[in-house]
Formats: sequence, structure tokens, C-alpha cells
Amino acid sequence: MLIDNHGRPITYLRLAVTDRCNLRCFYCMPEEGISFLPKPHLLTFEEMLRMVRMMAELGIKKVRITGGEPFVRKELMSFLRALVAIPGIEKVNITTNGVLTEHLVPELKALGISSINLSLDTLDRERFKEMTRRDELPNVLRTLDALLEHEIDTKINAVVMAGKNDQDILPLVGLSEKMPVSVRFIEEMPFNGSGLNETAFMSYHKIIDIIKEAHPSLAKLKDAASSTSYNYSIPNHLGNVGVIAAYSRTFCGTCNRIRVTPTGTLKTCLYDDGVLNIRDLLRSSTDDVAIKETLTQVFTNRHKDGFEAEANRKSIVTESMTTIGG
Ligand code: SAM
Repeated sequence: MLIDNHGRPITYLRLAVTDRCNLRCFYCMPEEGISFLPKPHLLTFEEMLRMVRMMAELGIKKVRITGGEPFVRKELMSFLRALVAIPGIEKVNITTNGVLTEHLVPELKALGISSINLSLDTLDRERFKEMTRRDELPNVLRTLDALLEHEIDTKINAVVMAGKNDQDILPLVGLSEKMPVSVRFIEEMPFNGSGLNETAFMSYHKIIDIIKEAHPSLAKLKDAASSTSYNYSIPNHLGNVGVIAAYSRTFCGTCNRIRVTPTGTLKTCLYDDGVLNIRDLLRSSTDDVAIKETLTQVFTNRHKDGFEAEANRKSIVTESMTTIGG
């Protein structure tokens, strides 16, 4: 069992399988200028499976596949088939923009993928095109329909920014009326290739106020212990809504998660700049026992929270979320 120096059990891995993406969301990366990594720098799927097997032996029970856009990596489905079969891995979830996902939904269901987070910042086609620099909203909405049709637990994640898509908050909340989805609004973070856009930042308090004004009967739900979202119900809505204080970092005290970037950098906090390169370990050693020992050591010195992790970085946060895994 991995337990960090603050007594937090580590049970959840977020694994970014690629840095490439088929959208160019303006709050995530510049339109041009991100140089995607050459393939040999990326963990291979075989390396990822070996790593997850070791982590499962250390107590990781849940894996979220993210990126970049996971579905742009070739052979993702074969990888998922092997991943769900790893002993000890109880849940495999995926975060996707849904552009390439619709036709794969039946197989995802058959594989037992527990939950999908679909990123969707607006229901307005023009604004979607503006924000993502691609005209793909119809494909995303078809994926949403397919997920619901196949009864896969679905969360919609929307990054909210003032003057960009704050007018989309209520239409997105509206999805939860007729659909059994969780619509979660995320504070913008500085992971975009240049740093926080302070003028557009909207705090989770502000987002909740907007929802409450339109839905005065908004009621707080009890959140799971390691939940990153504050969740609410609205009477007569099939689904619910939530806010994720990703920049305010209110949830670090119960953080049970780690991240591995496409190049195998282990992050024990989104805001740290990496604590270990697992790819190099995997490539230089066949001794899984020694690698597991190195992994365990990392958690004897984990930052208390995202503020401490950020303060201890070698450089300020500017990297794109696509190179980390959101
Ligand atoms: N391509 C997949 C997707 O779009 O869901 C997975 C990777 S994407 C980086 C994961 C999540 O990170 C998305 O919901 C995205 O909106 C969020 N994200 C990206 N940049 C962000 C930022 N600067 N602040 C907050 N969230 C961000």
C-alpha cells in the first residue's frame, strides 16, 4: 500500500497516454508552437502495462486514461483491453473530448469502463469552434448521446472563463435536467503554454453564485471523501452539477491521486514539476521489486498541497495540460 508522509493512501493513477490532441483549446495550448514529442520519448503501451501492474501491487485500484486526447493514440483499444484485465485494477475511467469516440462506445461499455469524463465547454457551435479552434461540436454531442444510450456513467467537464464562455454555464446546467449526467465546472489553471489568464479567471464561488441565482433550490450533496468536486442537485433534474476548485485547490487534504505524463514523469501533485522518471527506470531495469521500492520512497516526501508543490517548482507553471494529462 502506498501511503504518503501526510497519511494519505494513494489509490488512483491518472495516466496520460499521449501529448497529442485533435483540438487546440485556447486555455490549454497555443494554436501553434507546442512541439509534440517524438514517439521514442513516449512510454510504450507495454511499458505502461508493466508500470500499472507494479502500481496495482502497491495498491493502485483506479486508473484514468487521459492525454492529450487518448483516442488519437493508435491501438488504444488493445491497450484498454489489457489494462482492464490487470489484477487489482477495479476501475478504468477515461477523459476525452469525444471527437473520435462515438463508434467505440459499445466496446468501451463491453470492456467495463466505469465512467467517462467528456470535456465540453459550450453548446454553441460557433463558440466551440472559437474555443477549441476546431469545428467538432456535432461529433462530441453524438458521443454524449452514445454514452447515455449505453448507460455509461458520464460527467461533463467545462472549464469556465469570464468573457469567454460564462454565458454557457446555464445552458450546460440545463443538460442535467433531461440527462443523467454530472455537469462539472472547472476553474481555469495556468497550464496553457504561457500562464494564468487572470482577467478571465472565475472562482468556484462565482460559478456557484451564477447557478444559484438561476436555481435557488440548488442543494449541496454529500461528496465522496476524495472528491475534487463540490456537488449539488437541482430538484427535478435527472443529473447533478458540480464545481472543481482546480486553481483554488481546496481538495488537497484528501488527495489520493498521482499522475504519469506521456513521457513517464511521475507527478505526485498536478502543480509539482515531476518527482521521478518512470520511463527511464523501466528502460534501465528489469528488477520490478527495485522499481517498486523506488516508487514507494517517493511518497515519503510528498508535498502537503498544491500550493507547497507550486512553491517548490524549479520554474513557474506554464506547461500545457496536454503534456501533463488533465
Ligand atoms: N483530451 C482530453 C479531454 O479534452 O478531455 C483529455 C485531456 S484534457 C488536457 C483534460 C481536461 O483538462 C479537459 O477537461 C480540459 O478542459 C482540462 N484543461 C486543459 N487545460 C486546462 C486549464 N488551463 N485549466 C483547467 N482545465 C484545463
